[in-house]
Amino acid sequence: MTDRPDAQPRASHFVDGDYVEDRAGEPIPVIYPATGETIATVHAATPDVVDRALTSAARAQADWAATDPTERGRILRRAADLIRERNRDLSVLETLDTGKPLQETLVADATSGADALEYFGGLAADVTGTTMRFGDDWAYTIRRPLGVCVGIGAWNYPTQIACWKGAPALATGNAMVFKPSETTPLCALKVAEILVEAGLPPGLFNVVQGLGAVGAALTTDPRVAKVSLTGSVPTGRKVAAAAAGEMKHVTMELGGKSPILVFDDADVDDAVSGAINGNFYSSGQVCSNGTRVFVQSGIMDAFLSRLTERLAGVVPGDPLDEGVNYGPMTTRAQMDIVLRHLDTVRAEGARVVAGGKRMDRDGWWIEPTILADLRDDMAAVREEIFGPVMSVLTFATEDEAVARANDTPFGLSAGLFTRDLTRAHRVVARLQAGTCWINQYNLTPPGMPFGGSKQSGIGRENARVAMDHFTEVQTVYVGMGPVEAAY
Ligand code: NDP
Repeated sequence: MTDRPDAQPRASHFVDGDYVEDRAGEPIPVIYPATGETIATVHAATPDVVDRALTSAARAQADWAATDPTERGRILRRAADLIRERNRDLSVLETLDTGKPLQETLVADATSGADALEYFGGLAADVTGTTMRFGDDWAYTIRRPLGVCVGIGAWNYPTQIACWKGAPALATGNAMVFKPSETTPLCALKVAEILVEAGLPPGLFNVVQGLGAVGAALTTDPRVAKVSLTGSVPTGRKVAAAAAGEMKHVTMELGGKSPILVFDDADVDDAVSGAINGNFYSSGQVCSNGTRVFVQSGIMDAFLSRLTERLAGVVPGDPLDEGVNYGPMTTRAQMDIVLRHLDTVRAEGARVVAGGKRMDRDGWWIEPTILADLRDDMAAVREEIFGPVMSVLTFATEDEAVARANDTPFGLSAGLFTRDLTRAHRVVARLQAGTCWINQYNLTPPGMPFGGSKQSGIGRENARVAMDHFTEVQTVYVGMGPVEAAY
């Protein structure tokens, strides 16, 4: 068992290259979700701290944009190395912040952040434009940084989200002010500290804590050129509306109610593993989860029985114990939301195949839950629950599966399991989802664009496309001949 370290950060915010405290801001307790204990306290940023963060970002950004991109990339790659060296400490902190088992955080959070810093560090010197000819004249394009960007994070992957937003922003010559979720304020501070240690000049990556009001202040500030949000659809609507006032650029990574289609020729064990990873990993608090599992009728019984057998392998316990593979919900409020959903779906007549209750432990625990005998119009099938609740539905034909999979306002992700490759590509082409997996689920390497269609988002994170989202095109027309005028 890993000892629990002191989680209290040196100060609440990281501004202009150093930790900054301002106790005038509202105190925000940091609660270890596995026990409900308060393990640290930070203070919401006052308007003064927000202003200092934005001022330092604006001041630092111009020099950073003029810095040789190879050097920018080198700093990001050095930060990636430092994160890897300190992976255990960062993972322990993330476990304390979120309640996710150390077994998960050791392999999927700080390491994923390091991957992004390394990837975008490598691409920093490869921001290119295009050339065009118009007779003797020609034109070319340059991709320019946007300026000061704001990143706003959800609670579920606090280290990864800070890096996924910070890395492409910094690689392309922007500065960032990042606001973590108020429930998981600790990890982004460490990312900021490591970036400075790696050589990032002060002011380029600032972290300010706060409740929604701080996020709202950041999204309306005229010095901000872009807002990149990871959060729910309702918050996305508010942030997009605030950003629209000054036509700020936006990237929105929002919620989902994604389908996994399991055809009757699928490898059932792979499909069950995909459904488990896509519903119970991080206790279901993953935006891209495939919470509507459509299973073709011929293998429904086999699928359900393998799935329920596999739940015997769930090991809840102190998330700092590396033998534990199942943790609590990150907040009490989220646990209550999930429990309310479970009450509703029971009242609507669904069958609870497994789980369905709060666990008898300190902290905010819910059993991994499998629901069946559902109708597509039930709330549990339509709404994002953001907890360990899998809805298993049955279908007969490919057309029916596609139509029902697409019958949702969300469009974040989709998965399908089949051994028929022709069918796999045919079905994927018909699915309304930003990210699809064939015979796999929820893997997100940094070289792969990630994001949603329909109400699940605008823009993409990761891959080269993220470099486009943190830059804008400047077009230059070059006249080679005489300038003709009518008179
Ligand atoms: P919320 O939408 O509640 O909050 C997201 C962030 O936005 C928080 O930092 C929050 O701050 C901030 N915020 C809230 N109101 C405003 C506002 N008016 N202006 C600016 N910022 C604001 O999401 P959760 O933290 O509850 O995270 C869960 C949601 O995130 C789920 O819907 C999930 O699907 C989605 N998500 C999407 C991902 C993706 O990549 N598509 C990945 C991970 C999660 P505060 O916490 O201080 O209120």
